[in-house]
Amino acid sequence: MQHSTSSALVVSGWHRMSYSFNDNTLISQHLESLIRKLHAFVGNAVTQDRYIVFGAGSTQVLSAAAYALSLANSSSSHSPTRVVASVPYYAVCSAPTHHLPLQTTRYLNSEKFKYEGDAHTWRNRSESDASTNVIEFVTSPNNPDGLLNKAVLHGLNVKTIYDLAYYWPHFTPIPAPADEDLMVFTLSKLNGHAGSRFGWAVVKDETVFNKMVLHMQVNSIGVSKDTQLRAFKLLKAILEEGTQIFDFAYQTMKSKWERLATTLSLSNRFSLQKINPQYCFFYNKVRESSPAYAWVKCEKEEDKDCYAVLKAANIIGRKGNVFGSEDNYVRLSLVRSQDDFDILIQRLQKLVSEEDGAI
Ligand code: PMP
Repeated sequence: MQHSTSSALVVSGWHRMSYSFNDNTLISQHLESLIRKLHAFVGNAVTQDRYIVFGAGSTQVLSAAAYALSLANSSSSHSPTRVVASVPYYAVCSAPTHHLPLQTTRYLNSEKFKYEGDAHTWRNRSESDASTNVIEFVTSPNNPDGLLNKAVLHGLNVKTIYDLAYYWPHFTPIPAPADEDLMVFTLSKLNGHAGSRFGWAVVKDETVFNKMVLHMQVNSIGVSKDTQLRAFKLLKAILEEGTQIFDFAYQTMKSKWERLATTLSLSNRFSLQKINPQYCFFYNKVRESSPAYAWVKCEKEEDKDCYAVLKAANIIGRKGNVFGSEDNYVRLSLVRSQDDFDILIQRLQKLVSEEDGAI
């Protein structure tokens, strides 16, 4: 709102009608170089000598990545590629019973992919069995608990997709530029423009990159040029202001996290995830995390259904089982509006004050 003019976009009705850009590609080279500049400025990912693929949100990029990696795998095996993630995980790759807004899961759970649950249970098996093709999704910082996860599976038969949607300084310390084989980012969590549907992958391997590009072409003939233009304008406005938007977003998230932590510190009934402080190369200091979600645990045996406990207090979270966890966990979103957050705190304060023996 403070930069309405510099971030605004006006497009004539006749403009940008064709599928491709003037160089015959489906990707704006201006946007691509801006993305490289942004990563270099923030220091959250290595992009030198890497390829970049665009998608309709990171959701499309993640499925393109899974398809590309399963093709790379399948020459040696006819069995479906096993897809794993550490619990609690973001449900892009989980079982279809979960209520995802998009049915990404069904898509991924076709005969090509088989969701195989918690990555930890595959640890010894996949390392010893080289014919088992595995894709591990690693979300870092993790949705729902904000931890900087690392892959748990390794080996020639294992491919890893790093979902770095939240790897920005407003959500987490940035201990080093990420340098993984396949890293996925999204505008949705960088600046919140989820509705523009724009995500990208930074890819080391040219063959994987080509397969992802092919997937995008077959799937949707690339990302909307309108979206690419919007993304360009927004990222340009962000970069023109230096650290300003990151400082603003960091302060906003930090203050929300501190208020939430203070509120729940008075409770014996509810607890919050612990994330260790780390050195952040963006802010050049050791700092706490300021995550997008609270991963709340109901500590009492009688509160097994934590979602129901909070719902009764008019607080709507997302059940633990959506993330492969137990239902004594609930995820609360901290990336809604300030008004929503203020109401959340009021309702939590009320709940905590009603506890037996509340501190
Ligand atoms: N990855 C993670 C970890 C997410 O939390 C989300 C959105 N909740 C997405 C991917 C999908 O985001 P989008 O498709 O809007 O980029």
